[in-house]
Amino acid sequence: MQRWKPVEVLIHKDVRKDPVVLSIRNNLRDVRVDVVESGLPQDVMAASRTLGVRTSLFNTITEGKKVLYVGPPGDVVDDFSIPDGRMVCPHFARLKLASNGCFYRCDWCYLKGTYRANRPYITAHVEYPRIEQQLQGRLRNSPEPILFNAGELADSLSMDHVMKAAEHFISWFGRQKKGYLLLLTKSDNVDHILHLPHNRQTIVAWSMNAPAVSRQFEKGAPSFQRRLEAARKVQEAGYDVRIRLDPIVPVDGWQEIYADAIRDIYAAIEPERVTLGTLRFEEQFYHIRKTIVSEALLRHMETMAPMFTPQPVRMKNRKTTTKSGKYSFSHEERAAIFKFAVKRYESTLRRPRLRCARNPQPSGKRLISICPGAGAFVSLVTRICPKRAGANHYILAWRKESHGTTGRSGLPVAIRPSCSAIQPFSKPLTRGAYGPEPGQRDRRKAERNAGGE
Ligand code: SF4
Repeated sequence: MQRWKPVEVLIHKDVRKDPVVLSIRNNLRDVRVDVVESGLPQDVMAASRTLGVRTSLFNTITEGKKVLYVGPPGDVVDDFSIPDGRMVCPHFARLKLASNGCFYRCDWCYLKGTYRANRPYITAHVEYPRIEQQLQGRLRNSPEPILFNAGELADSLSMDHVMKAAEHFISWFGRQKKGYLLLLTKSDNVDHILHLPHNRQTIVAWSMNAPAVSRQFEKGAPSFQRRLEAARKVQEAGYDVRIRLDPIVPVDGWQEIYADAIRDIYAAIEPERVTLGTLRFEEQFYHIRKTIVSEALLRHMETMAPMFTPQPVRMKNRKTTTKSGKYSFSHEERAAIFKFAVKRYESTLRRPRLRCARNPQPSGKRLISICPGAGAFVSLVTRICPKRAGANHYILAWRKESHGTTGRSGLPVAIRPSCSAIQPFSKPLTRGAYGPEPGQRDRRKAERNAGGE
């Protein structure tokens, strides 16, 4: 199978002798490689022969995916947070081995709205020992295990035949006790990681979509079947595997095609977690949509509205109004999609799996927790790894400021992080199953007040 290669590589002068850079030069002999004096975006853009001529925003973004800039690490380890309080999941740590680090061309990719024409090229960081030091510093200062997400700004595996970053850090995390690595990918570039000493410290999550939706909107990415086959191989190699069925797009006949996708996923693998998300966009992406998405996606976007009202937040000692949150479908539409997918997944889980060489024990499974996140996604957990207690376990709880997600839908609103306890999910989802619904206390108070008059 032919693997991706850039048409142009720009190397920062400070890392030109790094072993990874030498290996890139060796493996990409027919690709033009230049050394640049600085990593400032304007200098990288000026040095590029591919990106020197500005055309439309869409073309610049597409051409940028052919150019690889390799630089020193800078601060590649940090904690992800959003200042306006809409983030209800635990704030995870990021490991930014690459940024804008993906050559696929998904129509909805939020990296297009983030890097746009200023930094349309792929940035990858080397000097892995310096990155290890940053990770060690973060782990040393934490009493709890930490999950480092390497898939926030990049596809974690698709470029690994060039950068060898996952290969390097899977082995490194395999020697840690408190640190876990989360790789998120749409790639089937997995053969090189199957025999690595991962020691179950790495989780690999596949971003999937129904085949028909994927064919239309996820250009350049491996097919549903190729991703599933890669996930199966990786699970057989002993890694924990997760699935993101995200974004679910309500195309014609969506119930049928997503039900088929859920069935096919569970027939091939047993993900410890499935995260469901609906189509959604950051405000700035939404506002430039007409220049960067296809007509087909635009039609879906024209029916969207902000998911919640802007909240005033204090940022760096000044009061300002933050972004108005993501744009998405109406509350009712999102709730219907989530309820449908949760139900399908639950019924698929309960069905005993066929006995075969891969699954000698035929067993049905049960959801043990549902972790919804601010209306944008819902995580369904089938297995809790005791090793990772504290890194990604949650207590389900109602949250008053629901960002308009639940209550009416019967889905729990939010989660609170917990280092030690998990509230098992054992009952069907019913209204109020996890405590008072948002607004319920206010209603009761109003009723009491009305009764007292
Ligand atoms: S795979 Fe992810 S990062 Fe890559 S283009 Fe698609 S959405 Fe963007």
